[in-house]
Amino acid sequence: MHDVLIIGAGLAGLSAARELTKRNIVWQLLEASDRVGGRVATDEVGGFLLDRGFQILLDAYPEAHQTLDYGELNLRPFHAGAKIWLGDKFTTVSNPLQHPKYALSTLLAPIGSLSDKFAMLTLRSMLEHSSLDDIFERRERTTSEYLRSFGFSQHIMERFFTPFLGGVFFDSKLDTSSRMFEFVFKMFASGKATLPAAGMGRIPRQMALRLDSARIRLNTPVASLEETPEGAIVRLASGETLRAKAVIIATNWHTASHLVSTIPTAARPSFTAPKSRSTTCLYFAADKAPTAEPILVLNGTGRGLVNNVCVPSNVAPLYAPKGQSLVSVSVIGSPQTDDDTLIAATRKEMAAWFGAEVQEWRHLRTYHIEHALPDQTPPALTPPERPVRLTDSLFIAGDHRDTASIQGALVSGRRTAEAIAALFA
Ligand SMILES: Cc1cc2nc3c(=O)[nH]c(=O)nc-3n(C[C@H](O)[C@H](O)[C@H](O)COP(=O)(O)OP(=O)(O)OC[C@H]3O[C@@H](n4cnc5c(N)ncnc54)[C@H](O)[C@@H]3O)c2cc1C
Repeated sequence: MHDVLIIGAGLAGLSAARELTKRNIVWQLLEASDRVGGRVATDEVGGFLLDRGFQILLDAYPEAHQTLDYGELNLRPFHAGAKIWLGDKFTTVSNPLQHPKYALSTLLAPIGSLSDKFAMLTLRSMLEHSSLDDIFERRERTTSEYLRSFGFSQHIMERFFTPFLGGVFFDSKLDTSSRMFEFVFKMFASGKATLPAAGMGRIPRQMALRLDSARIRLNTPVASLEETPEGAIVRLASGETLRAKAVIIATNWHTASHLVSTIPTAARPSFTAPKSRSTTCLYFAADKAPTAEPILVLNGTGRGLVNNVCVPSNVAPLYAPKGQSLVSVSVIGSPQTDDDTLIAATRKEMAAWFGAEVQEWRHLRTYHIEHALPDQTPPALTPPERPVRLTDSLFIAGDHRDTASIQGALVSGRRTAEAIAALFA
């Protein structure tokens, strides 16, 4: 009989393992794929580092700060701001507190009115002075409702907030919880958006290297679960059966719902999975970067397929071989077209932004991520921390238990381990 079995080696599962280790509780981790990290992953393709979907680490995340060794990850910062495509030209807005020399150009940028810019400063200052507890106690509504009631104009909503936050939440209507918005905006305002020098995949790799590798079983998908008076039974796809006093389901919400459905009806706990938000990310190799800056480029036109673009190799040079650049192009959702049509449509749109040189870009890979984030439409974050205990011996972790983010996944894993430690005490 095992003490604890953890199903899934994403950040939540790794965080649970870390916390159990600190508490001298013996665990074993069962991971379906051939690597740790789940949604946080980097593939090496022809000398380029391709994160599975455009993703960043906000270094202000409190749980990441406590868990990760930022120095070893060698975090490379983005410019705090965004370059926005207006249909005929680009304009750049910057955080004046982090980049004072751009304060005037930001004030004059054709993104919203003067009153929008003052509202932005007020919002920033309000969030800087709010604790996370304050944020998660405030009334929850959609982000779009929240921003309008804060006084922001339609103009800044369309040109800045929708593409910026749409790309963070994979939600172009900004239906996502205002609590999530306040949390994320506070994190952007109080720290830096970064990439580890050698790719996002270094984050889970660092966590795994600090754990006992003998306890991590890769290529070990779990097929079904059962609960007994003594604990839980885990059946692997291979046919092997394992028993444990406690089991943590640390898969995404979609798989968790399936695993819960395999528990015989009499003992089956209630678990309702949220809907999924999806995204598509196309990577191209370019001889010349379409922008020289380490900055996020947003589509401020409200039209077209592409939501945001970035040149990760401008932020962290190891993302591309010497003399070349990596371009990442993000689309919200899953376009219902075949890949060749999608690549051609993206290239055409990018040529309008960056010129004929786009025709020379070489397509590297396209990632379709169906279950990218759990939907966080209100009341998703009421309460902000959802229960992690399903039954006497079954526990559940993952970003769908907290905020849908690296921070949330790490917190959920720790919370689950703490609940088990209390049970074993
Ligand atoms: C494209 C994209 C961009 C993102 N950008 C950001 C960002 O910029 N900043 C941010 O903070 N967050 C971002 N996120 C969200 C963040 O990556 C996730 O919130 C977090 O990684 C979730 O971790 P998790 O452990 O909860 O789940 P997962 O990463 O989904 O891990 C679940 C694990 O369970 C395993 N598993 C599944 N089924 C089984 C089974 N039957 N048996 C055993 N193992 C199984 C999976 O293989 C996986 O390893 C992004 C996500 C995506 C997809």
